[in-house]
Amino acid sequence: MAKYDYDLFVIGAGSGGVRAARLTAITGAKVAVAEEHRVGGTCVIRGCVPKKFMVYASEVSHQLKTAKGFGWTIPEATFDWRTFREAKDVEIARLSGIYVANLTKAGAELVHARAVLKDAHTVEIVGKDMTVTADKILIATGGRPTVPQDVPGIEHVITSEEAFQLDELPESILVVGGGYIAVEFAGIFAGLGVKTTLLYRGPNILRGFDDDVRTHLTREMERRGIRVVLGCQHEKIEKTDKGMVSTLNNGLSFTTDQVMFATGREPYVKGLGLENAGVELTESGAIKVDKYSKTNVDNIWAVGDVTDRIALTPVAIREGAAFAETEFRNNPTTFDHEMVATAVFSQPEIGTVGMTEHDARVAFGEVDVYRAVFRPMKVTFYHGEEQTLMKVLVNPADQKVVGVHVVGPDAGEMIQMAAIAVKMGVTKQQWDSTCAVHPTAAEELVTMKEKYVPPNLGTAA
Ligand code: NDP
Repeated sequence: MAKYDYDLFVIGAGSGGVRAARLTAITGAKVAVAEEHRVGGTCVIRGCVPKKFMVYASEVSHQLKTAKGFGWTIPEATFDWRTFREAKDVEIARLSGIYVANLTKAGAELVHARAVLKDAHTVEIVGKDMTVTADKILIATGGRPTVPQDVPGIEHVITSEEAFQLDELPESILVVGGGYIAVEFAGIFAGLGVKTTLLYRGPNILRGFDDDVRTHLTREMERRGIRVVLGCQHEKIEKTDKGMVSTLNNGLSFTTDQVMFATGREPYVKGLGLENAGVELTESGAIKVDKYSKTNVDNIWAVGDVTDRIALTPVAIREGAAFAETEFRNNPTTFDHEMVATAVFSQPEIGTVGMTEHDARVAFGEVDVYRAVFRPMKVTFYHGEEQTLMKVLVNPADQKVVGVHVVGPDAGEMIQMAAIAVKMGVTKQQWDSTCAVHPTAAEELVTMKEKYVPPNLGTAA
């Protein structure tokens, strides 16, 4: 008789957990996955996927506004949030169903319940009066939004989780934070016709991104009607008959229908019973893992946002796959967290891979910058003002491209392709030998031949 009920027990059926469970189950191992909510995790249920649908819906307003320039006469358009929300929820349910089907097809067992560790090999299935044992355990419980608890009235605000399920669109909203979620939702709400203000405590949004990208996006968001307020934060929030009154630490006060906090996410470890198994956390409260995603406990692993590596869906998937490959296919595999490309679905989008200019200067002392700021042909045709930014950073010592940054339509699509070359260690000469695809905006990336000299560094006449 087998020593344990399962070879692998996975806690959390999000991107990382499902990938690991499927790849393990198809080896013939006995696998169970516990999920207390809907199968699909943050990405499918309350993150990337519904967010992208909202971005699509929101972008239509921009297309409608610019259609006149192409000869279209469109009667005044209206947007019905509830119709959209219903369609979104139907599609999310379909995708969640596919996740369930794929797990089952692979031979994994799905347990619709919360799972809590009792010890390193025992898991309690909450509400089902049941405990099971497993040889190996993988924790993939993801993250949850976090809001500052020291702001009086914080209980009145929403986070991205509620934003997906609003009964009605507010007329006005204050979005707090300067990270991915804040800028994405500011764009979504503004595009859907909500009077939107973005409030960020620092001097420039998107800390950690290239400075040109940060400044460019701010300008473009303002062009699309978003009010960006920097350098201040909440003192208190009051819910009144007139709406939510936000009082800031610089004396300013805003009254809006809604306040949404997008002030980060924290690893979801609460109540998991990690202490019963002796699993260690990092100082920031994430599960501590090694390069194989193994915790300090020999038979327990963790992947995805519950660890503190890179909080992105494809990263969680790759970590889950590497775990399965290592532990169940006898092929030690790690995921390389270097040069992971990412897209921010702000409006316009950001696509980025590799180092920022600042980081490259710190690392190499100097960096060759190739940079273009231009109005794409589509924009010039309808006499628009929106500009696209493209930036390619090169290490002068070996001519390798070390960073590519794009802000503009389809930047996410472009950066996926650029990332292949950058990850392979492309040199600027090889990059430039690639013939342009014409007429596209992306061709600008391979036609920047002159190094950029900032105006204040130009040679004196
Ligand atoms: P981020 O960590 O990206 O941003 C959090 C923001 O909130 C920062 O601007 C931070 O400011 C600010 N903040 C933190 N605490 C406070 C506070 N007490 N008061 C005021 N502001 C505060 O988190 P997000 O929630 O936006 O996203 C979480 C993660 O999810 C991202 O890092 C990303 O990895 C992932 N994600 C990826 C997406 C994609 O791939 N397109 C989309 C959405 C999320 P400061 O900079 O000063 O610390």
